[in-house]
Amino acid sequence: MYMVLDSDSWFWKNVVKAISILKKGACKAVTNGRTTKIWRDPWIPHLKGFIPKPRIGISTNDNFVVDLLLEDGGWDISKLNGLFDRETVSAILKGGTPTGMGNDRWVWTLEKSGLFTCKSAYLTQALDRAQQCAVAPALWNKLWNSKVLERHKILWWCILSNALPVRSVIGRRFHVQDTSCPLCGIGEETMEHLFLSCDVSMHLWRSSPWGIYPICNAGIRAWDWVKFIWNLNSRGIRVDEVFLYASIVVDTIWRLRNDIIHNSARLDVLKCIDVICISYAELHDAILPSSPPHLEGIWKPPPQDWIKLNCDVRVGLDSMCIAVVARNHQGSVVRIHTAQLNFVDPLCGEAAACCSAVDLALLLGFKYVLVESDSRIVINAINGMESHWAIENYVSFCVKSSPSFSCCNFIYASRTCNFTAHNVANWAFINKLYGNIPINSVPVNLLCNDQQV
Ligand SMILES: [Zn+2]
Repeated sequence: MYMVLDSDSWFWKNVVKAISILKKGACKAVTNGRTTKIWRDPWIPHLKGFIPKPRIGISTNDNFVVDLLLEDGGWDISKLNGLFDRETVSAILKGGTPTGMGNDRWVWTLEKSGLFTCKSAYLTQALDRAQQCAVAPALWNKLWNSKVLERHKILWWCILSNALPVRSVIGRRFHVQDTSCPLCGIGEETMEHLFLSCDVSMHLWRSSPWGIYPICNAGIRAWDWVKFIWNLNSRGIRVDEVFLYASIVVDTIWRLRNDIIHNSARLDVLKCIDVICISYAELHDAILPSSPPHLEGIWKPPPQDWIKLNCDVRVGLDSMCIAVVARNHQGSVVRIHTAQLNFVDPLCGEAAACCSAVDLALLLGFKYVLVESDSRIVINAINGMESHWAIENYVSFCVKSSPSFSCCNFIYASRTCNFTAHNVANWAFINKLYGNIPINSVPVNLLCNDQQV
């Protein structure tokens, strides 16, 4: 018999009482534990039956789950060990730390999304969550996950965050005599002019097979143009293709501009269009049809001022080890952190490793952060592309922490890009080394990027 509280929705009030089949899948997702009774409610989604099993001799009372939480929101492990059997404790820890945000609610565990029938209820929640973080992080994530070369992503990032040394940007800080556009010689060289509204750039954009080009008299910004491209799928156009083409165009414009300024190169628009078409044909074959491993399969350092944190988990028989390796733009390791988890669940382990990476980045005060994991499920869940009740607490932690950074993005990396974290997790697990690992204590061969050790 389920206890029904006033805070539960009418939907659950009506069906929980009536339909016993719900017992197979309905479980409360604890967020603050204030409305969930320890011994009466099903509240441990990772435990068969969802209701905790007491240790022998323990009397069950009417307390709420909130009594099992510490002041900082984490589980009171000694209390858990005192009340429940080992299996129960492990299942509770597997679910991660409750977010403390909002009230406990029902989830349907037989669907990985936790939805029973009422999709709209979930959508409402997802929208609420989206409002808390600005639009930009999602777009940055989309950029980092897009199918273009790493060089392109970095160039886009520089363009979109106004970090390229175009003349008008330099002119604001230093006295520069000539701030005119090196391509056309007419406009002032701003980011928007150079890449979008310059006559020369316009010729290059117009060479695209889709007949789309930026119209700039309305003061278009670079983000608007990127968003426009990403929205083209609603018109039945393959966005990956257009974005790859656009990436090659901006790359060509930037090289051309530098060639003219630094090497006094001569402007040849037709030659540029040729170069764009050839690059597009080559890269399209290499990147887009089936994403072959040789382009995605190599770890790349982050841009300057960024820190990339690769994370992974090593799964043992009754415990796991998560590892985070933080590296800078030169690819140098700046920090290694490992931790033991006293439960076994690969998916939760991958999610916990991402949380550990975020924790580490917060601790060390990194501002521009890329977190890489080889779990597509975890990355998609953090980026709001899918939902998974089993890792909800971990995902919430990552999502709610990201506004603490100037920029924080979560990226899927193929296993071959994640060997360093993989190797460290393995090594730490075998040697039982947990915590902040001195970098020089780690065998150098583990820190390679290209093989399993
Ligand atoms: Zn120009």
